[in-house]
Amino acid sequence: MTVRVRIAPSPTGYLHVGTARAALYNWLFARGRNGVFILRSDDTDSERNEPEYQDDIVGSLRWLGLDWDEGIEVGGPHAPYQQSLRFDRYREVALDLLGRGLAYYSFATPEQLDEFRKEAQAAGRTPAYDGRFRVDAEVAADRVASGEQAPIRLAVPRPGSTTFNDSVRDEVTFDHDQVDDFVILRSDGSPTYHLASTVDDVDFGITHVMRGEDLLSSTPKHIILTEAMGAKRPVYAHLALLMGPDGKKLSKRHGHTALNAYRADGIMPEAMVNYLALLGWSPGEDETVVSLEDMVERFRLEDVTKNATIFDNDKLEWMNGVYIRELAVDDFVARVAPLVEADLRRGLSSAESGQLAAIAPHVQERAKRLTDVAGQVAFLFGDVEYDDASWEKVMTKPEAPIAVAAAVAGLATLDDWSTTGVETTLRTMLEETELSARKGFQPLRVAVTGSTVSPPLFESIEVLGRDVAVARLEAAATRMGH
Ligand code: GLU
Repeated sequence: MTVRVRIAPSPTGYLHVGTARAALYNWLFARGRNGVFILRSDDTDSERNEPEYQDDIVGSLRWLGLDWDEGIEVGGPHAPYQQSLRFDRYREVALDLLGRGLAYYSFATPEQLDEFRKEAQAAGRTPAYDGRFRVDAEVAADRVASGEQAPIRLAVPRPGSTTFNDSVRDEVTFDHDQVDDFVILRSDGSPTYHLASTVDDVDFGITHVMRGEDLLSSTPKHIILTEAMGAKRPVYAHLALLMGPDGKKLSKRHGHTALNAYRADGIMPEAMVNYLALLGWSPGEDETVVSLEDMVERFRLEDVTKNATIFDNDKLEWMNGVYIRELAVDDFVARVAPLVEADLRRGLSSAESGQLAAIAPHVQERAKRLTDVAGQVAFLFGDVEYDDASWEKVMTKPEAPIAVAAAVAGLATLDDWSTTGVETTLRTMLEETELSARKGFQPLRVAVTGSTVSPPLFESIEVLGRDVAVARLEAAATRMGH
């Protein structure tokens, strides 16, 4: 049997990190078993669908490095993989179930249903609608024939229960007392999520459904529907929802929930994938940095936890730093150059690209996000902008003009313009002025970079070049009134 799995986001919002994790788990599962991974679009909600969201879903999955064998944009034997184009099929299934007495036109009024729910609640029962207002099939057929509109509900077998072996949560049982005679086709002819999702899973030959735990209570409905269609139920695996560090469901209060925001914030896709993989799955003791190939080889559904999983931005940032440091310098430069250019709102000249490449290894050592870099190297590519607090803290001290003047004298006549040359000159200056490294060097840093926080000083000066470095030191001296 070929493993066939799917991810089925609705294009009613940007790709959520929780959906991204579900996509990754499905992908890992398929890739480790020569399976097929499908991207379907659950776009039944025409009011809330936006093409922008569909593009975001596709773009975000690709950014993560996930590919799919069938589905949106790539097609496949069951195309179209888009629910809005399959309404006829859902209708056909609903009518077939109706014809076999497994579903019925429902004429229960909202008032009746409301009353039923209130009564059940008052009596301490689950208010799952049990079909008590169902009318005789012939009566129903007549009413529909005479133009009355009615939704079609599934006749859930009662009494009864549905049990399934969830790969994450083990055995789960739902008594049918808890399961509504749910609507499968609305009176306007549109399918509900339950119908569309189940029909697609059956038609596309889905063998394993891995999705968020929020859909656990839908699963008995999907199983009853699947079996009513005469199909074999897939294996289900419900993933624990992502929580914020406070243990509450992950929401905007905790930070971003859209994957694209992490991309915009300078998180590397490789780090994001690694971090998402560990949200509920562990390759073993204390292992945190795991390559994608390793994950494919080792991912097993049995090892996915049913415990709540915490999405922790600090850990993600830490992991991103690990991945940034692992990049070859060229690759690092290729990734940050567009960000630097976006920040400058212009392209880099070839000389400037050389400067970026030269400073890159020193910035790479410290960066936690790719987006940190533009700010750190901006001093190389434009006029220096003094950070007020840095100026106040450092340049108003009596030693600042002394250090700056000595540095100008040393650097202006330095023959060997190299990191070592700059360093030797500036250390000689320290000795001559009898300043500590901190007192002597911080003013130079503020003068050439504008801030007390910058890439390493000697490298910064070297990469800036003699003319600019000296001119900045002189400008700072003037600004200090010397
Ligand atoms: N369209 C559903 C969602 O976005 C997919 C649910 C499923 O995987 O069955 O939540």
